[in-house]
Amino acid sequence: MIERWSVAGAEARVGEGVQGLVVTIDGPAGSGKSTVARRVAERLGCGVLDTGALYRTVTLLALERGIALSDAPALARLLDDFPWRQEGERFFLGEREITDDIRTADVTAHVSEVSAHPEVRARLVPVQRAQAAHRALVAEGRDMGTVVFPDARHQFYLDADLEVRARRRADEMAKKGAAADVEKLRADLRERDRKDSSRAASPLQVPEDATVIDTTDLSIEEVVDRILADIESGRQ
Ligand code: C5P
Repeated sequence: MIERWSVAGAEARVGEGVQGLVVTIDGPAGSGKSTVARRVAERLGCGVLDTGALYRTVTLLALERGIALSDAPALARLLDDFPWRQEGERFFLGEREITDDIRTADVTAHVSEVSAHPEVRARLVPVQRAQAAHRALVAEGRDMGTVVFPDARHQFYLDADLEVRARRRADEMAKKGAAADVEKLRADLRERDRKDSSRAASPLQVPEDATVIDTTDLSIEEVVDRILADIESGRQ
């Protein structure tokens, strides 16, 4: 299948697995990656991939099935049968919708332990690359530019002050009617960042070729516009 970018300056033919047609967005928790990635994908008219949701799904299954989170081979075996898909803001495993289940406090508290296992990451890399095999894609996560799509032509890294990231999470929760303790959110984000950045396998880091955007004082739309402008101008 042949697709085309709809953005001037970034137009290219896409063949099988051509990473040039991937936009990568990496960054810590709460930096706005998921929302920004979805909006950029909408504006480009291409697919979107939330890779944190993949690690969350493995964590959800492990917790539900009573698999020890230290048992890497057993966790990796969960990927033997893994009919996972993302449809915009919704996530599915086969017929089951898991959108809310993968965002619980329990899954969030344990996902970094699961994602630290090289065995799990190795099984998920092909799942992620397959998503870009036949379509242009905006992929967001922690190791998009460094490991999964290192040849992607357009690479971004979003960051923001911890305080602002905690506040954004609290606002998101408030919109869903859930009470949020900003102090605890801040502590949890800091701890998750520490674990994700210090693990041996594919740690969170700024990819060499990425444009870094500090989103602390920017709105979602400003970040989206900045990314699209960089792509169109060829700066990215
Ligand atoms: O982005 P989100 O907060 O949903 O990610 C959940 C967790 O999944 C992260 O804290 C990290 O442990 C893991 N993750 C990862 N590599 C990615 C995306 C997420 O290790 N590419």
